[in-house]
Amino acid sequence: MDYWGLTGELEALKKQSLYRSRQIIDGAQGVKLQIGDKVFDNFSSNDYLGLANHSDVVAAFQQSANQYGVGSGSAHLICGHSREHHALEEELAAFTGRERALVFSTGYMANLGVISALLGKGDDVLQDKLNHASLLDGGKISGAKLRRYSHANMERLQQLLTNASGNRKLIVTDGVFSMDGDEAPIKELALIANNSKAMLMVDDAHGVGVLGKTGAGILEEQGLNQQQVPILMATLGKALGTAGAFVAGSEELIETLIQRARTYIYTTAMPAPVMAATRISLKLCQQGHWRREKLTALINQFRHGAEQLGLQLMPSSTPIQPVFLGSNERVMSVNAMLKGKGFLVGAIRHPTVAKGSERLRITFSANHTEQQVDALLLALDEAVH
Ligand SMILES: *Cc1c(COP(=O)(O)O)cnc(C)c1O
Repeated sequence: MDYWGLTGELEALKKQSLYRSRQIIDGAQGVKLQIGDKVFDNFSSNDYLGLANHSDVVAAFQQSANQYGVGSGSAHLICGHSREHHALEEELAAFTGRERALVFSTGYMANLGVISALLGKGDDVLQDKLNHASLLDGGKISGAKLRRYSHANMERLQQLLTNASGNRKLIVTDGVFSMDGDEAPIKELALIANNSKAMLMVDDAHGVGVLGKTGAGILEEQGLNQQQVPILMATLGKALGTAGAFVAGSEELIETLIQRARTYIYTTAMPAPVMAATRISLKLCQQGHWRREKLTALINQFRHGAEQLGLQLMPSSTPIQPVFLGSNERVMSVNAMLKGKGFLVGAIRHPTVAKGSERLRITFSANHTEQQVDALLLALDEAVH
């Protein structure tokens, strides 16, 4: 019985071009992606360095599975924390230049866990309006007073801080904004946080691997240390090509999370082979600066071509390159036309972005070729105009 009227709700979503459905992928992640018996040029993944199916990463996973099996058996605090988990944490701490790191099973859980472990009733959490859903949800479940400032608006943030009366104050921002591709004004944020005795947390899910000389992200690129940005979170499932997430910071921060972060404590540890694979992808990330240089060249090629075609780009120099279309219907029809021509891009609608700012989200990988980018531009020209 449809007591709750779910059928009607679903129909309404379809009418507004808001219905979401999944496509079934029949092969490994990469710049070519198989769906059924068709192969597409893939410009929709977050596998920015092309490591998700790198042969060394796959081999590390297989070897580790031979040694550790698949399941981790329990949570970290019982008997699920393997030598591979521990070694990866030490390597991530060194990579980010912080005292300690702690691996979580997903980025969503890391963000919920960190904010709710550190804040509660009587505290203030101040967030950029465009922050990832998991950060906003973390703020909500923490019980702290959640205040959002308009995107990258430091004056507004300063006002909110001046009026904040809570015990603890936490400023939270994406490093690279996931649907826009622009970078947070991170140096100003660090200064403002310091002046108002607030802690600063950066979610660099889309910066780690991509920005900085060794790929350690926006904080490496901007030269900010653990004192200036005490809480760094990033994911392993994007540029690093595997799965999971980590938080890096001081000894006290990490020990507090081990005691208090419910999404760390009450969940099964990731399989050890995922950790072993990530240790190798981290090495490839650190040593393979050519991947970041290649990405920069592809991004420049795309932006130059798109400007000549009169496409509406956004101010991004990262592998996330949105093309502004402005309505659900437009996004869905351009997306379908591109798919017909053999190209997969992200179709981003409300409520992921604000109404009227619907867009394509085109992402680049170090494994794309110049020819693929030229072919994408040609297809975009035909589909958008
Ligand atoms: C993807 C993403 C997350 C969530 O990470 P998962 O590991 O996919 O759960 C959190 N924050 C940002 C900014 C992200 O882009």
